[in-house]
Amino acid sequence: MFYPTLTRRTNYSKKPDNTYYADYRHYLTEIKEDCQERCVYCDALLSEHGNEGFHIDHFRPFVHFSSLKSDPNNLVLACSKCNIWKSKNWPTNMYFHVHASHDGTVGFIDPFLEPLSDYFEVEQSGRLLTKGTVAKYMLELLHLNRESRIQLRRKRTIQYKAMHLNEIVDQKLKAIVEYMQSEDFDRNIAREMVNSLREAKNLLTDALNMLHKKIS
Ligand SMILES: [Zn+2]
Repeated sequence: MFYPTLTRRTNYSKKPDNTYYADYRHYLTEIKEDCQERCVYCDALLSEHGNEGFHIDHFRPFVHFSSLKSDPNNLVLACSKCNIWKSKNWPTNMYFHVHASHDGTVGFIDPFLEPLSDYFEVEQSGRLLTKGTVAKYMLELLHLNRESRIQLRRKRTIQYKAMHLNEIVDQKLKAIVEYMQSEDFDRNIAREMVNSLREAKNLLTDALNMLHKKIS
């Protein structure tokens, strides 16, 4: 439900001369897919954000790593606030540890190299808990427990539970219909059961519709 393992494709699209496109925005669709349409820092889904306001982030800031400006392997999807707070911060020693995005204390966890679920856990309340100091650094710098994100995670948790319950209700309804079609059933009892399940399903549908509201 939160922070799934991401896999980066091995081949991004290239120009006919076999080089990458200079305008990194060309890779938006591919980066969205690779990041499973979520901010790789706070885990907000694009769909939870009205399908707008997300940016392409240069994981290694191009002000420090100019050669990576047009390299799609350095691009990730980020919501606007995480992108702004991350900015050009790159606390690890960029010259001696060019491949290390964190040193175990500060820096950024590369979501394509290490599962973020190893570093972050979501409480029922929607708050993010950190495991280790790098995660704590990210949480504080990017304000990952800002109120909008707590609400978003809480809503997603409720939504998943409601959807699961909805599936159970559907299965039960189907079983009751089959029972009603059998030879030996009590019509009144079955009707009562169907009505109560339909009522539960209507409540669930209402709850799911309410949860689909856009979060700013
Ligand atoms: Zn974000």
